[in-house]
Amino acid sequence: MLKLYNTASRKLEAFKPLGEEVKIYTCGPTVYSEPHIGNYAAYTYWDLLVRALKVNGFKVKRVLNLTDVGHLVSDGDEGEDKLEKGAEREGKTPFEVADYYIKVYLDNYAKMEFLPADVVARATYYIEADMRAVDLMTEHGFTYETTDGVYFDTAKFADYAKFARLDLAGLQAGARVGFSSEKRNASDFAVWKFIQPGEKHAMRWDYLGRPGYPGWHLECSTIIHEVLGEPIDIHTGGVDHIPVHHSNEIAQSYAAYGHDLSRFWLHCDFITIDGQKISKSLGNTYTLEDLEKRGFSAMDYKMWLLSGHYQGTRNFTFDSLEAAKNRRLNWRNRIASLLQSAGPVALSSPKIDDNFGGPPPSAPPADGFDKILSAVNNNLNSAEAFAIIDNSELGLDDWQKIDELFGLRLIADSPDLTAEISGLIREREEAREKKDFARADEIRDELARRGVTLKDTPGGAVWQYIK
Ligand code: AMP
Ligand code: ZN
Repeated sequence: MLKLYNTASRKLEAFKPLGEEVKIYTCGPTVYSEPHIGNYAAYTYWDLLVRALKVNGFKVKRVLNLTDVGHLVSDGDEGEDKLEKGAEREGKTPFEVADYYIKVYLDNYAKMEFLPADVVARATYYIEADMRAVDLMTEHGFTYETTDGVYFDTAKFADYAKFARLDLAGLQAGARVGFSSEKRNASDFAVWKFIQPGEKHAMRWDYLGRPGYPGWHLECSTIIHEVLGEPIDIHTGGVDHIPVHHSNEIAQSYAAYGHDLSRFWLHCDFITIDGQKISKSLGNTYTLEDLEKRGFSAMDYKMWLLSGHYQGTRNFTFDSLEAAKNRRLNWRNRIASLLQSAGPVALSSPKIDDNFGGPPPSAPPADGFDKILSAVNNNLNSAEAFAIIDNSELGLDDWQKIDELFGLRLIADSPDLTAEISGLIREREEAREKKDFARADEIRDELARRGVTLKDTPGGAVWQYIK
């Protein structure tokens, strides 16, 4: 049974789908600048969520949005639109900036071995649906107009404070001087922004007789309504989304459509680097490419992320990444030795074949994978699952399932590599038989370049990955 911590109830709850298909929505990235490694944390844990649901036999429909308009630098209703800012920085249009970073994100999602979402929804494709949503909220009496936009009156939604346990009185008292005097309550937010005369905002759509653009939170309510239909089963995001973005999504969806937005809400915590927040000024906004340059693959980083729990604050260091990389190498070598004893790489020379790699391993206990899945079913406890993997005897079937569950490409590349490597090993054995040690050494170097080392045993050569 899958249990998940639901932010809405602040409880661990047994997961039961509302319908035949599990409907999941993930708040996606704002596509305006180079993503840093922290930006992959959430998607790694939600990839595990989707994989766990599938391994448990659920059918899943998952939507990921891409924010390409309306997300202001303040996360609130003031300041420049991040896409417009990116356009200025790069001397491009905001649409070109979005196109470029969407490609970067999607390429890197593939590198991270994330299962592709069923629908990837770009915010600017849903502008008309946004306008219809604002019309509905207005019709139902939840909005008011100011000089700079259409605002959601949070006082009209009795449950506004409930989801994030907000202290609205405190918010009101602490509202900073200078916040739009036309706003009725400090927690009110723009569902639509008007572009002021002289204001530069290249992305603009006519609505209510003026040029404007949607408020950042609106796209998620709209896309969920258009693509999945609320209520959905699971909505995911980062902990930073709880007090504003998700509280606002819930309010909008109720005001426009009269429904709850989601049954479960999952939030992952932030990662720090060397104990500090990730930020440009600290020079620690590492990208996946930066890690690659230091010899760590996207899979090593995913291994690092999954070796901790999604709800814990995770502190990234290169030492801990090195440990994750070695752990993955150790797992791949356990697979390599199973592959060698299972036969497909056995050398053709009968002399070596007879005894290659020693006797076949004793059959592992049948519940090997079940224990791993149980740990993951307990609120996605991948950290505990990894400890079980470290300490269990597992067969190739188990590893296959482990790869399905975590998407770590542990065996994905092995079959081809195995055929090639076994060819080289055979050639080296032949060279040694002919006492051509120079050729044998050459092959050993070639294997090393391919990340493989050889151990000579009385039964023949046994190979292992070294990277
Ligand atoms: P941003 O594009 O900077 O607004 O980041 C998009 C999302 O990535 C945020 O809303 C967070 O949920 C997530 N994120 C950003 N930084 C981190 C981090 N250090 N650790 C985990 N998640 C992060
Ligand atoms: Zn959202």
